[in-house]
Amino acid sequence: MADDRLMESALVGCLLGGAVGDAIGLPREGLPPARAQKLFAKPDRHRLVMGRGLVSDDTEHACFTAPALMKSRGDSDRFQRSLARSLRLWLLSLPPAMGLATLRACVKLCLGFKPGSSGVNSAGNGPAMRSAIVGVLWGHDRHKLRDFVYKSSYLIHHNTRAYQGALTIAVAAYISAHESQVSGHLLLSHLRHVLDGEDSYHFISLVEEAIDSAKTKERVSNLALRLGSHRGISGFVEHTVPCVIQVWLRYPNDYDKAVAEIISAGGDTDTTAAILGGIIGARVGKNGIPSPWLQGIKDWPRDMKWIERLGGALARSQNSQKPVSAPRYNWPLVPFRNLFLLLVILFHGVRRLLPPY
Ligand SMILES: [Mg+2]
Repeated sequence: MADDRLMESALVGCLLGGAVGDAIGLPREGLPPARAQKLFAKPDRHRLVMGRGLVSDDTEHACFTAPALMKSRGDSDRFQRSLARSLRLWLLSLPPAMGLATLRACVKLCLGFKPGSSGVNSAGNGPAMRSAIVGVLWGHDRHKLRDFVYKSSYLIHHNTRAYQGALTIAVAAYISAHESQVSGHLLLSHLRHVLDGEDSYHFISLVEEAIDSAKTKERVSNLALRLGSHRGISGFVEHTVPCVIQVWLRYPNDYDKAVAEIISAGGDTDTTAAILGGIIGARVGKNGIPSPWLQGIKDWPRDMKWIERLGGALARSQNSQKPVSAPRYNWPLVPFRNLFLLLVILFHGVRRLLPPY
């Protein structure tokens, strides 16, 4: 019973932590750190629309993964088909922001490509956006973990690096949720079991570099520069994942400090903060996330109460003999919400043309 409550807290914390990181990071997405600092000062509150926040594709993908995990009942093919269905509907609801690879793969899914052949070759961080919740649930079983993360990754990104990055995030989320201590040593020992094969050496060396960097307590922006990411942390998985790991190892129990630091490093801020927020949220739970950040998200259909119910339903589904349904919402209204987000994004695009530079 206590274990069930811990699992529910980890799943809810992972989903909420990702959503809050996404919303706090969204206004700064794509900006170099110095410009973001001039426009928005510290990342310590919502600044998207009059002190309120909205979520983007990072949260939506995590929220599609949870019901697919529920429907799968342990079968990764069923999981992949369910995720593919959600992504088709998502594209038809006209989301205003997504990566190019995700757009191409979702168009292929809508045109009738099978989920196993829809992925396009890109080392973007889309798979890492969906994998923390898989790690919290399946991290204790490395075969299942690999299988589910593989099916989620290759649905959109037919790329080994994107898959390895997603697995690394899943393992980190598992450790964060279920181990009493967090350390680089523990991460590496889990990763070496999960990331096998010769072509994993390169990714493991990136994780080792992140661990060494965390030991020196340097700012993550220094690591990003060494990795070759010069305008903040890019959306390339070999930049995003080591930087997320570096900040997580420095602040494994400190959600707001960690999220503020990775957002201050600039670049793909909504995604880096969403991935990191999901990992730390799995450890600290809802109560470890600043409540003004939770309450400041004014979105629909994925408001914080809805996401909390989704995490609870996913936890219940693991022990229930009967199917458990994810909380529902009115799909036909989603394009109107997306139109509103598009207008907000356009406003921010125009704002960026104006000083201070
Ligand atoms: Mg996003």
